[in-house]
Amino acid sequence: MRLLLIILLVLAITTATFAQNLSPVARNGALKVQDGKLVNQQGIAPQLRGISLSWSLWQGRKYYNPGVVSWLAGDFKISMLRVAMGVEPDGGYLQQPDEQQKLVTDAVDQAIREGIYVLIDWHDHHANQHLRDSKEFFKQMAKKYGDVPNVIYEIWNEPAKTDWKTVKDYAMQVIPIIRKYDKNNVIVVGSPNWDQDVDIAAADPINGFSNIAYSFHFYASDNYHQEALRAKADKAIKLGLPLIITEWGVGEASGDGEFNMQKTQIWLKWMEDNQLSWANWNITDKHETTAILQKDAPIYGGWTDANLTPAGAYIRNVLRELNK
Ligand code: CA
Repeated sequence: MRLLLIILLVLAITTATFAQNLSPVARNGALKVQDGKLVNQQGIAPQLRGISLSWSLWQGRKYYNPGVVSWLAGDFKISMLRVAMGVEPDGGYLQQPDEQQKLVTDAVDQAIREGIYVLIDWHDHHANQHLRDSKEFFKQMAKKYGDVPNVIYEIWNEPAKTDWKTVKDYAMQVIPIIRKYDKNNVIVVGSPNWDQDVDIAAADPINGFSNIAYSFHFYASDNYHQEALRAKADKAIKLGLPLIITEWGVGEASGDGEFNMQKTQIWLKWMEDNQLSWANWNITDKHETTAILQKDAPIYGGWTDANLTPAGAYIRNVLRELNK
């Protein structure tokens, strides 16, 4: 009996050690939505934590390369990357679809090689006006990535001042296209008012499709993103809406402004308490509070402490601590 116990103990320790060395995707496998929660193949909340690349335009674009993805996986210890493809602005997907799609797939392919999860984000505040384009894009993505567990589709980042019906109608057009080629990977739906009104989505969720999650966004130091906003998310969670925080920043809603450590810690604790997965905004060297990088940080990763902003140093520490 004692020998059996010892053998079991040794097995348990070996398994635990082995599990620690596995990549996030090897550990968690295919994600799904079950009983109102995002869970892994063991039915447990994976609590993925990571970073969002910036818009695939302007200052953030130069960081769209495999070196950066690899550095974020190895040094920042991210388990989830978000690829935020710009759609509307000059140079975005509407004008340069092939070029933008290549930026996305190069980053996604590297995330797959690193064994991390990756959100393919249609970064557009008016996606309902670009339905034909987004359907074509997500068709391509689902055809290419339907067989790998790494990919999560985020079909509309931050619907602006619009109603839930518009967001839901859009989702009901795009989801079937993805599901034609990818039967099971998680699809993330937005909510009105820049992904804040999850309580409204929770009252009338999408039916008829499995593995649908909903994005919730906040900017931790913003005076308008405090108790009342958390209460909306709490209400949605209570109603059984599976939330994923595909974007949050340490600053204010503009991406700039104050970095209030106390308010940021309250939000972080809230995410941990609710076992939510998240991606922090954003990999850029733009002069703004939520930027992770100082001006002219190397474009292929390999960043030193001097290359990180206060937000960058803080987020790197949080990720390395919580994802270890
Ligand atoms: Ca699949």
